[in-house]
Amino acid sequence: MKWKQQIFGMKAYQPGKPMEEVKKEFGLDEVVKLASNENPYGFSPKVKAFLNNENTNHAIYPDGYAQNLRTAVANHLGVKETELLFGNGSDDIIAIITRALLYPGVNTVMATPSFSQYSHNAEIEGAEVRKVPLKDGKHDLKAMLEAIDENTSVVWVCNPNNPTGTIVHHHELQTFLQNVPQDVLVVLDEAYFEYVDSPDYQNSIPFIHEYPNIIILRTFSKAYGLASFRVGYAIANEEVIAKLDPVRAPFNNTILSHKVAIVALEDQEFIRSCKEKNENGKKQFVRFCEKHHFHYYPSQTNFILFEVKADSDVVFNEMMKRGFIIRSGNALEAPGYIRVTIGTEEQNEKFLSLLEEVLTEQGVFA
Ligand SMILES: *Cc1c(COP(=O)(O)O)cnc(C)c1O
Repeated sequence: MKWKQQIFGMKAYQPGKPMEEVKKEFGLDEVVKLASNENPYGFSPKVKAFLNNENTNHAIYPDGYAQNLRTAVANHLGVKETELLFGNGSDDIIAIITRALLYPGVNTVMATPSFSQYSHNAEIEGAEVRKVPLKDGKHDLKAMLEAIDENTSVVWVCNPNNPTGTIVHHHELQTFLQNVPQDVLVVLDEAYFEYVDSPDYQNSIPFIHEYPNIIILRTFSKAYGLASFRVGYAIANEEVIAKLDPVRAPFNNTILSHKVAIVALEDQEFIRSCKEKNENGKKQFVRFCEKHHFHYYPSQTNFILFEVKADSDVVFNEMMKRGFIIRSGNALEAPGYIRVTIGTEEQNEKFLSLLEEVLTEQGVFA
């Protein structure tokens, strides 16, 4: 068949072993997944109450314009309804942006390591991918600017960055946006927006009027705890949204996902309390790293990337045998490191004590 050249040799996203499989393979009663940065506290109790009582008619198509959710998000953010685009997760919006702007002959600039879907989608479209190494775990915006030329269509800024958890400071972002050519779309992926606690990070939404070439991505998958419902959204200038909208599949959320996201948005107290617990959980990891003199990246998210002074894949496997699924740094261009989602206090404590056991076995503390 006449496949696109670029999909030869391409691998599907590796989601990691399903929890049920890990349980069976290692004879475990309980497995804790700290690999995909989901909310360890699940979702708002208000969502739970709603789900217990709802009776959606799933036989009919959802509202493709997501009117009710659109109104709720627009009110919540203080933006116009026409400044929003909804996706089947922000992954969907990444694909929409890529499909609308990338093709053979143009290039796209991104940091490395960063979120893998930017390059994955760009490669499918046959665009040239320009990866600019992080500097001390942070986006090197100066080098990214230098990588932009007249054939650049899209620049990706993952803020906070996955897998390092680091942020681009507001003033650095402003300088960057002032210098990016007006005809290059800058994607600000803010999947972890709700977790950020730094005064150097400010709401980027006012930028959409100042810079008509930016688009902000947010999601209900992380802090809101609704990863399985697949709702992400983009905020941008009306003209950008209007250009992207025809590229979107017509019914890219479900009726239930629209309803659930609205309920979740109403419970900001849940988000606030998760953020607070996450801050405390982060401190457990930081204390561990400092005790053992392991390098770690200062995280503004619900995960942390840190050094283990051992083979990351071995640590990944040993922790899996003990009931914890994490991400090996080898899969994230960070060999010798692991990326761990910050869990509940109890999960973190158990995880860190088992990690100490594994690293002792590996001779790290000898
Ligand atoms: C998890 C994640 C996403 C994707 O989230 P969905 O909305 O579930 O598709 C996007 N960007 C980054 C950086 C992420 O970590």
